[in-house]
Amino acid sequence: MNPEIRKVAVVGSGILGTQIAVQSAHFGYDVSVYDSNPASFEKAHQDLKTVLKKAVGKRIFTPEQWEDGARKVTRCSELSHALEEADLVIEAVPEDLGLKREVFKQIDPVAPQRAILATNSSSIPISKIEGATTRPEQCLNLHFYFPAMGTTMVDVMGGTRTTAQTFDAGKAWVRSIGCTPLTVKKEILGFCFNRVWRAIKRETLYMWAEGFVDFRDIDRAWMIFTGMPHGPFGMMDNVGLDVVYNIETVYYNDSEDPKDQPPEALKAMVERNELGRKTGKGFYTYPNPEYEKPDFTK
Ligand code: NAD
Repeated sequence: MNPEIRKVAVVGSGILGTQIAVQSAHFGYDVSVYDSNPASFEKAHQDLKTVLKKAVGKRIFTPEQWEDGARKVTRCSELSHALEEADLVIEAVPEDLGLKREVFKQIDPVAPQRAILATNSSSIPISKIEGATTRPEQCLNLHFYFPAMGTTMVDVMGGTRTTAQTFDAGKAWVRSIGCTPLTVKKEILGFCFNRVWRAIKRETLYMWAEGFVDFRDIDRAWMIFTGMPHGPFGMMDNVGLDVVYNIETVYYNDSEDPKDQPPEALKAMVERNELGRKTGKGFYTYPNPEYEKPDFTK
C-alpha cells in the first residue's frame, strides 16, 4: 500500500476501468467505481474472467483472487458517492477528448482537494485535459495496458504543471499494485511502449488493408517470433476495434499525415459493429478464435 493513497475511485468501469479497480482492490486499496451505464462493471468483469482464464505467462491473479478483488469493489450509481474520500481518481471513459474534459470538469469540484486526478487515455496527453480542472498540478497520465493482470506496466506522464510530488505518488501507487512504472520524461503522444505498439498497428493494418498479406500470416509470424499467444490482429480484437480506430484517429489528427489515416476497411468493420472479442466478431470470431487452435502456427 502507498501511504499517500488509500482510496481509489475509477470513473468509467468498462474493460480497462474494471481491471484497474479489481487490481487496486486486490492490492488492498479501498476502491469505488462509477459508470454512466450501471451494467458495465459486471459485463467487463465477466469478459475479463475469460481473458484471465486463457492468459498465459506472467499473471498477478489467480481466478479466485480476481473474483475476490471484484467483490471488494464498491459500485456507485452517483459520481459524488464514488469520489467520497478518494485520494486518487482514475478516469477510464471512452477515448474522446471532449468527453474526457467534460468528465474531469465534473470530477474536479466533487473530489477531495488532495486527490490526484489521472487519465487512463491511450493517446491523449494530460496537458489537453488538465485545463478542465482547477488543479493541473495534481493531474497526470497513468496509462495501463491490456490485460493489466498480465501486462504489468503503466506509463506515467505529467502535464504542463504536474508537480514532482504528484508524479512520484503516481509511480509509487503503480508499483504498489504490482506494475512497473514507465517514466515518460517529456510529453509525447503514445507515451513509452504504446508508441512502439502503435507503429506495429499502423504497419500491420496497412499491410492487411492494402491486400499485401493475410492478417493471419502476420499473426502467425508474430506468435512464432515472440512466443506470444496472439499476434497484432488478435491483440487488436481483444482491445476492441472501436478503441483501436479512435486511437489511430487521434494520431492522424495530431500529425495530419495521410499515412497515419486509419484504413477505411477498419472503419467499415467498426460501423458493422465488428469490434472484436466484445461483440463476438472482429478479425476473428469469438469465443474460440482461430489463433487459439493448437495448429494455428503450423
Ligand atoms: P470501454 O468502452 O470498455 O469502457 C468505457 C466505459 O466508460 C463504458 O463502460 C461507458 O459506459 C463508460 N462511460 C462513458 N461515458 C461516461 C461518463 N460520462 N461517465 C462515466 N462513465 C462513462 O473502453 P475501455 O477499453 O475501457 O477504454 C477506456 C479508456 O482506457 C480509453 O481512454 C482507452 O483509450 C483507454 N485504454 C484502453 C485499453 C484497451 O485495451 N481497451 C488499453 C489502455 C487504455
